[in-house]
Amino acid sequence: MKHIIPYGKQHITQGDIDSVVEALQADYLTQGPRILEFESNFAKYVGATYAVAVSNGTAALHLNALALGVEPGQKVITTPITFAASANCVRYCGGEVVFGDIDPDTYLLDSNSVRKILENDPNGNYVGIIPVDFAGRAVDLEVYRKLADEFGLWIIEDSCHSPGGYFVDSKGVRQHCGNGNFADLAIFSFHPVKHIASGEGGMITTNSEELYNKLLALRTHGIVKNDELYTNDPSFASASKDVDTYPAWYMEMQELGYNYRITDFQAALGNSQLKRADEGIEKRRAIATRYYNAFKSEKFIKSQSGVIEGHAYHLYVIEVDDRLGLYNYLREHGVFAQIHYIPCHLMPYYRNLGHKEGDYPKSEEYYRNCISLPMYPTLNEDEQEFVIGKIKEFYVS
Ligand SMILES: *Cc1c(COP(=O)(O)O)cnc(C)c1O
Repeated sequence: MKHIIPYGKQHITQGDIDSVVEALQADYLTQGPRILEFESNFAKYVGATYAVAVSNGTAALHLNALALGVEPGQKVITTPITFAASANCVRYCGGEVVFGDIDPDTYLLDSNSVRKILENDPNGNYVGIIPVDFAGRAVDLEVYRKLADEFGLWIIEDSCHSPGGYFVDSKGVRQHCGNGNFADLAIFSFHPVKHIASGEGGMITTNSEELYNKLLALRTHGIVKNDELYTNDPSFASASKDVDTYPAWYMEMQELGYNYRITDFQAALGNSQLKRADEGIEKRRAIATRYYNAFKSEKFIKSQSGVIEGHAYHLYVIEVDDRLGLYNYLREHGVFAQIHYIPCHLMPYYRNLGHKEGDYPKSEEYYRNCISLPMYPTLNEDEQEFVIGKIKEFYVS
């Protein structure tokens, strides 16, 4: 059988398996102590005050849009070069998605393009921005916070690609993705191709106690269990006259929420993986360095940045001529490179909402050339040399 090299892959150790087995043998399958442990460890890892574990990254985005109160008619700006979920969360709440274009050097949402949108449409009912730490490169949120404050907007940082990544702020301080110092909320995914796998899973981080409490309720049907927050009175709650305390069974559903919980055994896997997160980034950065050195003087590469400080390297993207030819050639040899992303505004769903080709030329140009090379911690040197060799072979012969 041909040796297959995918673009991304989870890394499960015996320690991970033992953690999950232990969770399966414990008292709770869901809502157990490992979820709280995962939340607290993850918050510490990214440097945020609060973390809320959820069933996946898309649920995290949906809860964020709900907690921030996105409503029909309101507009939110994001990048076309992302997984569609970054934009879809706005649509779940009936809001309108407006795209900015990317910076062709960083592939990230260009803050100048966002500023232009806001200045050209002063009565546009814009409420927020969703920048994405695409490929693992951290967005400069200091710049975005200034912009958001100027226009009265919130920020959701989509950090699915960048747990452990950071940017360096204007004072020279490392600002880790999801630390909540600039964005109101940040989200992560624990899908197997991401840095930390829990099967399906996601996390929200924030420094706002108010948003944190809203998220906890929305994650579980809008139910609160706290004597101080109840609106029905104790005699109704206890179905007994002249009682002024709430019985132990009592709870209230106070708003329309969902079931977006994660299970305890998924949290066990997440916790176990989180312990190796920094090790994984080091391996990813070593792979990025090897790719960079292999290709830096090759003419067939249109664009490739050096190895960047704070980049978590979820993806290693290069831009090339004859991308289709290269993609097919690699596939023939068992190397399953991938394209990230088909611009979101040109997905049929978004075209049907009025977005069209030519709207975001830099994103569309990027899409014509981009290809993500295999990048995951267990990709060994021989495999990586095989990938590099096949790419050179394609362009040279
Ligand atoms: C993976 C991903 C998501 C969605 O996460 P799921 O856990 O798959 O729902 C959202 N945004 C980005 C940028 C992603 O890469």
